[in-house]
Amino acid sequence: MLDVIILGSGPAGLTAAIYCGRANKSTLVLAGDSLGGQTAEIAKLENYPGWAGSGMELIQFMKKQAESFNAKVEFTSATDIKFNDDGTFTVVCDNGKKLDTKSVILATGARARRLEIDGAREFFGKGVSYCATCDGFFYSGKDVLVMGGGNSALNDALYLSDIAKNVKIVYRKSEFFRAEAVLRDRVAAKENIECLFNTDLKSISAKPDSDKLIATTLNDEQIECDGIFVAIGHEANTDYLTESIKRDDLGRIAPDVLPNGMFVAGDVESNIKMQIATAVGTGCSAAMDAIAYLNSRN
Ligand SMILES: Cc1cc2nc3c(=O)[nH]c(=O)nc-3n(C[C@H](O)[C@H](O)[C@H](O)COP(=O)(O)OP(=O)(O)OC[C@H]3O[C@@H](n4cnc5c(N)ncnc54)[C@H](O)[C@@H]3O)c2cc1C
Repeated sequence: MLDVIILGSGPAGLTAAIYCGRANKSTLVLAGDSLGGQTAEIAKLENYPGWAGSGMELIQFMKKQAESFNAKVEFTSATDIKFNDDGTFTVVCDNGKKLDTKSVILATGARARRLEIDGAREFFGKGVSYCATCDGFFYSGKDVLVMGGGNSALNDALYLSDIAKNVKIVYRKSEFFRAEAVLRDRVAAKENIECLFNTDLKSISAKPDSDKLIATTLNDEQIECDGIFVAIGHEANTDYLTESIKRDDLGRIAPDVLPNGMFVAGDVESNIKMQIATAVGTGCSAAMDAIAYLNSRN
């Protein structure tokens, strides 16, 4: 029986692992199918205090730090959590393992919200992407669209503007209300970024006899481009939880709906700002609550 199983190897989960390991609690991190979650996608991380480098470098550092306190990391995902009569939990994994634990920290983060218009699925991986830092490289000297108007969309547009020839941002509102001022200013200063406000895409199709895509807007304007990067928000990764745990409309969980011994941290927690600094803060907080809970049980 483990003291704590942490679901997720993003900054929230790894921070929780550092705290739990350092408190001498037997700690296992279920990393999911890849290490680092969304942070691993960040090519240049500029706003996490004390860090200058990529997101993946930060994650590798955090993992080593957690392992130095005997936390273990396994690459598997939870598919179910069973509540046992004695107040413990059994975590069922996609590799068939069933792991018993006295407490669980949910730090499974979020994923990009999928675009549900004609052509979006068909052209996924063939021009439609959800990760500018992963796929931007393929659009060197080309024309791309970015869909969305929050920090992620503007960051993607800035990243792509250094690689692509032209970047058009398509946003359904009249201004980038939700984005940070520093990003809005940088976008405005870029000569190869054009902002199309008050519009949205209704379909994506292939341009006949070419590798190009045609993005059709709500007012039937056809925009020719080589790639479309979608940054329209996130949904929490909580499919492994039973219906009995209440979630908000983004699938996120409030700490006060969880049973004793279960804690939540990072982007999967409702009402937090989705940033590394908050993931780290809530990871620390969830771990300290878990440690206090474990000490009170013993
Ligand atoms: C492209 C991009 C750029 C960003 N840029 C910045 C930035 O510049 N600054 C900033 O502060 N933030 C940035 N963010 C946001 C930041 O990355 C997130 O807020 C942060 O990673 C959230 O951390 P987390 O640990 O809560 O979740 P995540 O990073 O989402 O990690 C979730 C983890 O859970 C795992 N998982 C999922 N389901 C399961 C399961 N069933 N079982 C076990 N494990 C599971 C995943 O594999 C992953 O390891 C960016 C995000 C993206 C996508």
